[in-house]
Amino acid sequence: MTGKKTTASSAGRTRKKAKVVLEDEEEAGLEDEEEATVTLSVEKDALECDICCLPFQSEAFMCKNGHSVCAKCCIRTNGKCWTCSERIGDIRCRPLEKLLAAATTSCMFKSNGCYDVISYLEKVTHEETCQRAPYKCPVHGCAYSGLRLGYHVAQDHGHDDDGLASVVFIYGKAVATVRKDEPFRVLLQRNTERVFLLLNGHDLLQGRSLSLLCLGPRFQDGVEVELKYKMEVSGGAPGALTLSASGTIPFARRLDGFQAKGFLFVPDAYWGSAGSISVTVRIYV
Ligand SMILES: [Zn+2]
Ligand SMILES: [Zn+2]
Ligand SMILES: [Zn+2]
Ligand SMILES: [Zn+2]
Repeated sequence: MTGKKTTASSAGRTRKKAKVVLEDEEEAGLEDEEEATVTLSVEKDALECDICCLPFQSEAFMCKNGHSVCAKCCIRTNGKCWTCSERIGDIRCRPLEKLLAAATTSCMFKSNGCYDVISYLEKVTHEETCQRAPYKCPVHGCAYSGLRLGYHVAQDHGHDDDGLASVVFIYGKAVATVRKDEPFRVLLQRNTERVFLLLNGHDLLQGRSLSLLCLGPRFQDGVEVELKYKMEVSGGAPGALTLSASGTIPFARRLDGFQAKGFLFVPDAYWGSAGSISVTVRIYV
């Protein structure tokens, strides 16, 4: 519970149906709408379930003493009120549900330029896919989080001693040297804000797992982009097989928590005495 304050102003109330507008930021300044609206200031935690502290979804339940919890917590507590031990799960808390259904709010990425007015119940879903949500820099110790990750990486890490961002796709092809002990290599595409990470997973015995991830916009001019890749690793020893993998590149806004669904297994023998390999990556639409 952050107790973050939502702010308020008010408008006319001539119609029967009221609409509630919750604002995340300090300013409200809404013009009168045709429909009667009341803009309220509500402590954020008043709209959160007392047990799980998550925002209420469309259903809220209450015990006979009026304590309210979300639908999931009714199940979690076996239908017993957490506060007074009375039965909970049979009575819906309609006034709260009505309020939640009528409420609109702003996106948490308003400061990044998202001015959408969203239904309170869709806030979480919207923010997960909001086009103005920032991308987090994957470089260890760097605090950058913003919409221009490609520019930031080229500018601020492009000249790092480890040559972190020195690999750039030329006509969709990049050749990167990956050291066995580095968790990823950054690949950049000129004139786009996309940052590609050639991930080098160390969670396997007798080898490493290579996969590709894009930190960058999934949509271009409102259309979802599907980017494909092919990567190849040639064997160090004469006659060794060339390993290759291809697929669709997943998109994310941050590296932490990302789990690759597929990867190219590169056995220890391929890494040679220098402990590095050369990986050729091609991307295309
Ligand atoms: Zn809950
Ligand atoms: Zn109760
Ligand atoms: Zn948004
Ligand atoms: Zn950075």
